[in-house]
Amino acid sequence: MNSNKPHKKVCLSGNGDCRVVFCPGCGTLEINFGASTIRTDYASLHLLSSVLNRAKVQLARMQNASPANGDAPQIRPGRVH
Ligand SMILES: [Zn+2]
Repeated sequence: MNSNKPHKKVCLSGNGDCRVVFCPGCGTLEINFGASTIRTDYASLHLLSSVLNRAKVQLARMQNASPANGDAPQIRPGRVH
């Protein structure tokens, strides 16, 4: 194997400090998130993606849910003076 060949990483997706890079030469898949780099693979990327998506959905569901006892939040009238 030619180890002198530089690894040419390809950015698959990126937004700000979060990027997913892939090296076709050796099949390395990395998630760069801020100062952290997570080495992963295709299956783990899919797993992470689905877990994150579910977390988003669950969080949105919880935030849209009524407060305790199901009472509608009271809307306080503006201060009149
Ligand atoms: Zn590589």
